[in-house]
Amino acid sequence: MSQYSSAVRGIRAPLEFVLGGSERAERVRELQQTLLAALSAATELWIPQEAKRRFSDAAQKIAENGVAPSVLEPIAKRLGPLLDPDYARRALSQETVKIPGVGPKIAQALARKEIHRIEDLLFFLPRSYEDRREISKIEELQVGHSACFEGTVTRSGVVPLRNGRSFLQAVVSDGTAAVQLKWFRGIAHFQDRLKPGARVLVAGDVRRYRYAKELHHPELEFLNRDAPLGSLPRIVPTYSHVEGVPPRTMRRIVESTTKYAADLVDAWLPETSARRHGLADLGESLREVHLPSPHLDPELLRERRTPYHLRLVAEELLLLQVGLELRRAQFSRRASRPLAVAHPGVQKAIDALPFKLTSDQERVWREISSDLSRAQPMNRMLIGDVGTGKTVLAILGAVAAHASGGVTAVLAPTEILAEQHFETFRKLAQPLGLNIGLLTGSTPAPQRRSLRRLLALGEIAIVIGTHALLTESFDLPKLAFVVIDEQHRFGVAQRRALGDKGENPHVLLMSATPIPRSLALTVFGDLDHSVLRERPPGRSPVETRVIPPEAARQALDALREALARDEQAYIVYPLVEESEKQDLKDASRGYERLVRALPGVRVGLLHGRLDGRERLQTMQEFAAGRVRVLVSTTVIEVGVDVHNATLLIVQHAERFGLAQLHQLRGRVGRGQLPGRAMLISEPRTEDASRRLAILEASESGFEIAEEDLRIRGAGEWLGTRQAGHLPELRLADLVRHGELLPVARAAARDLLSKDPELRGNPILRTSVEQRWGGRLDFGAVA
Ligand code: ADP
Ligand code: MG
Repeated sequence: MSQYSSAVRGIRAPLEFVLGGSERAERVRELQQTLLAALSAATELWIPQEAKRRFSDAAQKIAENGVAPSVLEPIAKRLGPLLDPDYARRALSQETVKIPGVGPKIAQALARKEIHRIEDLLFFLPRSYEDRREISKIEELQVGHSACFEGTVTRSGVVPLRNGRSFLQAVVSDGTAAVQLKWFRGIAHFQDRLKPGARVLVAGDVRRYRYAKELHHPELEFLNRDAPLGSLPRIVPTYSHVEGVPPRTMRRIVESTTKYAADLVDAWLPETSARRHGLADLGESLREVHLPSPHLDPELLRERRTPYHLRLVAEELLLLQVGLELRRAQFSRRASRPLAVAHPGVQKAIDALPFKLTSDQERVWREISSDLSRAQPMNRMLIGDVGTGKTVLAILGAVAAHASGGVTAVLAPTEILAEQHFETFRKLAQPLGLNIGLLTGSTPAPQRRSLRRLLALGEIAIVIGTHALLTESFDLPKLAFVVIDEQHRFGVAQRRALGDKGENPHVLLMSATPIPRSLALTVFGDLDHSVLRERPPGRSPVETRVIPPEAARQALDALREALARDEQAYIVYPLVEESEKQDLKDASRGYERLVRALPGVRVGLLHGRLDGRERLQTMQEFAAGRVRVLVSTTVIEVGVDVHNATLLIVQHAERFGLAQLHQLRGRVGRGQLPGRAMLISEPRTEDASRRLAILEASESGFEIAEEDLRIRGAGEWLGTRQAGHLPELRLADLVRHGELLPVARAAARDLLSKDPELRGNPILRTSVEQRWGGRLDFGAVA
């Protein structure tokens, strides 16, 4: 702990004392807010005029309140955790305060990378580390590799070029051999120092020039004349490139910032909880991460797994979890109408189902119904692999809403799904006396009008629809329950638009994308979530095989056999945005070949260029069994439920994600007939084949999702299907640091249970708001 931070920590009480203690608490808070605003501007890397003005305004205000300017300094230190003791004084005296090496130009360049404050710089962690403890001999340098070596300058000089320019050249020797160093820019900087006899530590990429090896713009450290060679072993951080800031400058800026401010950062994670989990001190962590001690393991450093990295990650995760918890608290303060889940109609609905609920469904229904019976809105995510039977739980909720005089809205991402839900709800809920309406983009105007009329009259219990539900201008004053299927296909605003049609309706979000636990905790930390794992009985797993293109014939044979048994099949081609045309051509060609190969069999073609009506029509023909084989370029119809379809053939399976393929194969084997998936894949790399092999071995979406996450990393995994859901984490990698999530979560809950609104910790509160702000809006509807 540095002298500053301990000084800073003792400062709070005197502040309130000076201002008159609790009687003037309101005033104090106001002042703190003003100062905080001024200071958050003032901790920007390069202080513009405006910030200086705000800072002195705040000082003025403090003075008017009978507080001597000298008191400002400690307040400043407390509120702006990154200020050094001289900072406030200098800021007050209107000098420009800045980090050495950062002027307006560099500050602008950094700002483009979202580095605005000293704190941002401190938490801009190295992308990797170079191990410079290994000092090579010059004779062993290898072209194409980076290396670090020491030596003495034997010759140096500026060499003019014919075009009027020139370059600086130096020869360095270590006794085993000599090598040339060249600078084409910044010559003046080195010219004087690179005199013969100078001893240097050199690091950089070795390249070939004619018959010699040389380095261009290597990194240099000048060694003390008396220092023995090998006295400067170091592990050197490398940062991701910031446009407009040369790598060495970047390193220097971070280095000086770290030396100057690492110990001034106030930790969010309470020391007790940090110690309990063996996490290092925050200041020490910042120092070791940016200026690693030579004894650290470079491999651990690169993997961001040192205790120092873990501490920083824990800080970030704590900030996230506090945000999530605050959101959750805010949400639960809203009032909703409790639904009559114990109404006899609900039991009647369960009894009337053509099947018995699985024990998993029963458990989840208990979780959902307990939420629905409360006077706060439910905000629950139901995650269940394809075919686990989520829809029926939505129906039961709708029945409870109806029994309480409320209306249910079901939002589906595509017309086909909406239509399908409409049929299912009609089959299962209509007999119970619930009227059901459907509204999609292709609902004709007269039907829309009549639907609106019926809704206004309270004649409709359940309205099912697509985006049209959101854009149509009608109110659903009795809206009590909202179901959003395949929720990740909707944006926050869209989900909210539906919630806004009623007053704090209960919300059930459904997703077929199994989410690994670590992600669930992050993405849905503030949502309650239920998981359906069990499949309804009588389903055999989808037999999955990966086959190379040469063996594609087997797929055609399997197709013929399925058709001979009177079953149906899907053939799916990948859809990659950039080459949409090519994909469509592939699928169209495949379709034509198939039509020729299977005379007398009706084959359908589904792709993104068709309009909604055509797509719906083809799908309906397929569902009715008239179209026997469906060739599709898209994977949009994730929830499609055609029991007679038993075979899935995927072309170019290597171009799909694992979770996506798993979703796809969920389209077959949905009824009593066993399903089969044949994944035709170019096994270009060992990795790709190993990836796909998991699908042959496992039928658990959760297991596959974990594996997918492990192989591809959280960013990409989320990028494809959960885009926009994960708040951007700068330090934490959910694969590597998953075990810190529960730690952060427990600490966040602990903090908030003592101080639910963080009144005693305005800095943390402001940081949460600054860091996450609107981005913590994911998941929730209202
Ligand atoms: P998903 O979770 O993929 O949305 P669905 O709700 O579409 O799954 O259900 C898949 C199929 O399983 C439907 O045909 C449904 O009728 C059937 N199903 C649901 N629950 C059961 C059950 N407990 N027993 C038998 N079949 C069921
Ligand atoms: Mg579904």
